[in-house]
Amino acid sequence: MKILLDNGHGIETPGKRSPDGRLLEYAYNREIASRVNNELQRRGYSSSLLVPELSDVSLAERCRRVGHVCSELGRRNVCLVSIHVNAAGRGDKWYNATGWCCYTSKGQTEGDKLADCLCQAAARILHGHKMRFDYSDGDPDQESNFYILSHTACGACLTESGFMDCRESLKFLLSDEGKAAIVQLHVEGIIVYVNSCSTDED
Ligand SMILES: [Zn+2]
Repeated sequence: MKILLDNGHGIETPGKRSPDGRLLEYAYNREIASRVNNELQRRGYSSSLLVPELSDVSLAERCRRVGHVCSELGRRNVCLVSIHVNAAGRGDKWYNATGWCCYTSKGQTEGDKLADCLCQAAARILHGHKMRFDYSDGDPDQESNFYILSHTACGACLTESGFMDCRESLKFLLSDEGKAAIVQLHVEGIIVYVNSCSTDED
């Protein structure tokens, strides 16, 4: 199974920052994605960054890259996690919304299995933090027609690691402990998913 990690946005993306400017989402997503990527590779998994560039590669191009890997390896042998940070507003004001969540595209797809693994890892590793789970359709992920999820053929989900415009959430996001926990939940969730897929094939 090939793991693709997408780090949302780019250096020139407007907004997408904490009100105090301490967290720039493109940079934070890249830091987390590259740490997750390094750890997966260190543990022997085949992982790569979808957008190694600092610039905001368009969603169409991101999806084209995913499609290229899917056509080479088969879509069932590829999974995609798009790593983001949430915001309640536009980066100019503080809010109180907080919590971790994971999105899949609408309907039951392979992405739901991947999301389940990530949600379980998040609930365990971020124990005591708010989980923004939506069980209305029987599973914990939220559903949305994000472009990166609805224009890719492999199992795909998008994580929001907390809220950059909530002071308490930001403090955790920027702490060494918070970063390590966010990296760990992605690594562990992805590994559980990848291992469950290789068992299915046996
Ligand atoms: Zn984002």
